[in-house]
Amino acid sequence: MSYEGLIVSVSGMRGRVGEALTPEVIAKFAAGFGAWAKQRAGGKRARIVVGRDSRVSGPMFQPVVHAALQSVGCDVIDVGMAPTPTIQLAVEHHHAAGGLAITASHNPIEWNALKFIGPSGLFLDGTEAAEMRAVVDGTIRRAKWDELGTIETDRDAVSRHIAQVLSLSLIDTERIRKRRFHVALDCVRGAGGALMPQLLERLGCRVSAINLETDGRFPRPPEPVAANLGELEALVRKSGADIGFAVDPDVDRLALVSNEGKAIGEDYTLALAAKVVLARRTGDIVTNLSTSRIVDDIAREQNRKVVRAPVGEVNVATRMRAEKAPVGGEGNGGVILSEVHLGRDAPIGAALILQLLVDEGKTLSEIVASYPRYSIVKDKLDRPSAPLDTVYASLREAFPDADADTQDGLRLTWADRWVHVRPSGTEPIVRVIAEAPTASEAEALIAKCRVPLDALSG
Ligand code: MG
Repeated sequence: MSYEGLIVSVSGMRGRVGEALTPEVIAKFAAGFGAWAKQRAGGKRARIVVGRDSRVSGPMFQPVVHAALQSVGCDVIDVGMAPTPTIQLAVEHHHAAGGLAITASHNPIEWNALKFIGPSGLFLDGTEAAEMRAVVDGTIRRAKWDELGTIETDRDAVSRHIAQVLSLSLIDTERIRKRRFHVALDCVRGAGGALMPQLLERLGCRVSAINLETDGRFPRPPEPVAANLGELEALVRKSGADIGFAVDPDVDRLALVSNEGKAIGEDYTLALAAKVVLARRTGDIVTNLSTSRIVDDIAREQNRKVVRAPVGEVNVATRMRAEKAPVGGEGNGGVILSEVHLGRDAPIGAALILQLLVDEGKTLSEIVASYPRYSIVKDKLDRPSAPLDTVYASLREAFPDADADTQDGLRLTWADRWVHVRPSGTEPIVRVIAEAPTASEAEALIAKCRVPLDALSG
């Protein structure tokens, strides 16, 4: 079966609804996933947790996923509409054989997707994904009438998640409650509306919110990057809130707006949340090679190391496990706290940021102003005709004074700047990301990299 227009990556598959993404394609992957999970469980009855974000197409795909799983003899535990980290936690809670999240995360409204979760609550890694893909592409053994899976519902996944955040020993809920923070919130009409307001209210916050409707009709591009947060910035200014929180539709990414009504950039979320964790736990911080060096500044302040993993949430999560790192995540607003689970979790991120405000006794603007500012510039170019190893070799030759990391493409690092060149996993392009104290310096770094790259493109 060919899947034209479908983007299949390690931890999921996605497409535009009604184009590459149809119920038939969803059914094929869900059945293959179920058969793989069952095989992995030694052929015993396997239970799979299913949940979805608020996308308009979610209610159409949900029964398709249920039927596909039942058809291979898997029992379904349906958690309904829920954030992706809530679904991951439910997999662990139920000791399930895996989970399927029907969500296209931060992608625009016309997309939907499946994210594949393994029995430990982590997304599938490269090896697991290849095994599962072989099952999807092979002949999937279907259950007979008397082996079909069952369906049960679990309506408590969101409240368990909230309880887990409130019971974190890292946060002092009493002190947070006493501060009576005024929080502005934008859930972009995603699944966050089902969790974030309750969590914040239980932390004693007064919440001024927009886009809490969980109907998937995103009123703006749903990625929580600064450029998309104008409405939340205005809300903070109008309401006089202490802070603004924005989450993406499946609530694994968190972006912050300062008390001055300015989106401070997603890069700061992980760095600031990590500060709270590193002050109270031993160990280092893990992030990916494309994340801002503001994380290095925070780690240095606490005498810790930054361990960098290849791009991809599962790469960061598995490295955190290997390094026994208490905290990690991505510069896109994804915070991972090991002691709860190895998944990006915006509710945990929000609680840690409120704790930071308590710890520091300063406003978010003041905290941000105490750190250096950097600018990240992203560029992409057509994949050169020369092999990428040749490209990397010529870049290393062009910049002999930089430290080189070759885990994932090539990352060249200097004292206050870096550039990361890596092929896209899904498109015939090479991504070039640079960070420097100013945007013009980051642009200049990219321009310098383009010289050897362009020379090899001919
Ligand atoms: Mg997401």
